[in-house]
Amino acid sequence: MSETAKKPLAIVTGASRGIGASIARRLAADGYHVALNYSSNEAKARELADQIQADGGSAEPVGFNVAESAQVDEKIEALGKAHGPVAVLVNNAGITIDGLLMRLKDEDLDKTLAVDLKGAIYCTRAATRQMMRARKGSVIQISSVIGEMGNAGQSAYAAAKAGLIGFSKSIAKELASRQIRVNTITPGFIETDMTGALTNEQKEGILRSVPLGFLGTPEDIAALVSFLASPSSRYITGQVIGVNGGLYI
Ligand code: NAP
Repeated sequence: MSETAKKPLAIVTGASRGIGASIARRLAADGYHVALNYSSNEAKARELADQIQADGGSAEPVGFNVAESAQVDEKIEALGKAHGPVAVLVNNAGITIDGLLMRLKDEDLDKTLAVDLKGAIYCTRAATRQMMRARKGSVIQISSVIGEMGNAGQSAYAAAKAGLIGFSKSIAKELASRQIRVNTITPGFIETDMTGALTNEQKEGILRSVPLGFLGTPEDIAALVSFLASPSSRYITGQVIGVNGGLYI
């Protein structure tokens, strides 16, 4: 058995950058072999795998589109065969296509739901097949504060992220008897490429609405993922936990 095969397997979707990359680094430091999923940014995912390895951790890039269920099934099954059953799944991959409802195009709605909601469902279904046999596992969804409080111009994104909350509460009930826990993190405004597109004026407006008065970092999300993945959170399932600086209480 290789050295990496002894480490429990964690899959992080959308791990090539932003919040996902930070979660991957943290889980590797916690002792997991981390599968770094990406959709197009192979170079970034490879670079991250190399950095993790240089730091003494274990990781591999795994490209697939979370919105394609056949790809998801094939890749997650292959990972399980190579490393043992998935111990931790973090559904982090996400996109946002913003715009007012009156201008919302069918294809943008479909794409948002396909990646942010259906993608997380496909990955959860594939990974929990393995967790059910192992009778343990932790699934962590990265939703959004927007799914809880709504935001003008983000109705499709909010629908997907709110849908993820309902999905996760349901499967938390379905899978609890197998000791599989399912929890949802709802980040507020976190500094990444996704929020990098905001203008300074928009950022100042956001900061005025955040009681703690600063934007979060990907590490703030990774710290909670680390806890929810670990046995320290063994009695926590079906929960929605905000990491938002008090933006939504
Ligand atoms: P980001 O910097 O835009 O990164 C998105 C990641 O998702 C990338 O790794 C990207 O891969 C991957 N991805 C996109 N579509 C994919 C697909 N179809 N299949 C597989 N991977 C795909 O995003 P982020 O800001 O880190 O956000 C991460 C998650 O947190 C998202 O779900 C987002 O909705 C949520 N969130 C973010 C914020 C925030 O303020 N940033 C707030 C609340 C919630 P490639 O690099 O290959 O394109």
